[in-house]
Amino acid sequence: MKKEKGQLIVLSGPSGVGKSTVIAELLGQRPDIYFSVSYTTRQPRVGEQDGVNYNFVDRAEFERMIAAQELLEYAEYVNNYYGTSLKVIREKLAAGIDVLLDIEVQGAAKVKDQCPDALSIFIIPPSFEELSRRLHGRNTDSEEVISGRLEKARIEFREIPNYDYLVINDKVSNAVYEIESILTAAQCRVENR
Ligand code: 5GP
Repeated sequence: MKKEKGQLIVLSGPSGVGKSTVIAELLGQRPDIYFSVSYTTRQPRVGEQDGVNYNFVDRAEFERMIAAQELLEYAEYVNNYYGTSLKVIREKLAAGIDVLLDIEVQGAAKVKDQCPDALSIFIIPPSFEELSRRLHGRNTDSEEVISGRLEKARIEFREIPNYDYLVINDKVSNAVYEIESILTAAQCRVENR
């Protein structure tokens, strides 16, 4: 039976937790889910592609989008803007397609306010030491950016009680399995049948 409306799925977790890897594997197994490509003013990292990982825009364009109310939510994160296109999300959900957002905690709170049915999942690393190790191992950010992201992670952890589910990314395949199980359970809810 085709669903009338798609499920909005919000995934958050500190920078370096391995969200992108988890998401890539999840989407490999669930190609029916649409991944929302965010807009950001951050510079592309090596290997990132415009329109695939993010839509990379400058601050003037981002501020134009805010003023034109084109964003479902947006936030400033370590000196850069990040935001979600309202139009794309609306269209996909209306077409019965599940949509996955990879967004930080302020944006997630705004989405929950506007879309109370959104399913929110927070991913954490096995430990803080492991997070620091992963951020350094990525070799893409300066020491200053890394310490900004670690400090941000400590603040973000305080928001965990506002999420519906918590997943520990000790092993990517386990984390993906748990997320898939959460999505299956949500689909089986009486109100979604
Ligand atoms: P990164 O620079 O590591 O790609 O992302 C930094 C943070 O921004 C991550 O926590 C990521 O989830 C978040 N983020 C990515 N896109 C969006 C967005 O559209 N809105 C918000 N609020 N956060 C986002």
